[in-house]
Amino acid sequence: MPSVFTRIIRGEIPCYQVAENEHYMAFLDINPLQKGHTLVVPKQETDYIFDLEDKVLSGLFVFAKEVAGKIEKVFPCDRIGITVIGLEVPHAHVHLIPIHEEKDMNFSGPKMVLSAEEMLEIAQRLSEA
Ligand code: AMP
Repeated sequence: MPSVFTRIIRGEIPCYQVAENEHYMAFLDINPLQKGHTLVVPKQETDYIFDLEDKVLSGLFVFAKEVAGKIEKVFPCDRIGITVIGLEVPHAHVHLIPIHEEKDMNFSGPKMVLSAEEMLEIAQRLSEA
């Protein structure tokens, strides 16, 4: 069964898209820790990030760097935090989160609840940045 991220990549379920190229895609996390919290995924479905071929893994980080640049422009911050968890969705991905302090990326803490309109507006601003 395809992962939820593969279904997003195929266009079978919607997402708030931020960026895309031939091999990678970035879209907003539906339960963000901060405004601008974005997931970056390889289109190739592999569960564990360290099972990706070296070329796909390194390309993922180069693409993530481009996406981080967009997030920084729209949400000024001290830096873009980057995290890999992967316990919920078995499709390799990195979380990019604009942060000012360590607690801004506490995955055990409460998530933000943003309206669909706000998510759409954030995704549009990021994709245009
Ligand atoms: P993890 O696999 O532990 O890194 O967590 C998966 C992340 O994907 C969580 O932060 C979820 O909020 C997020 N997520 C799950 N389903 C979707 C979806 N359909 N669109 C965007 N983000 C999602």
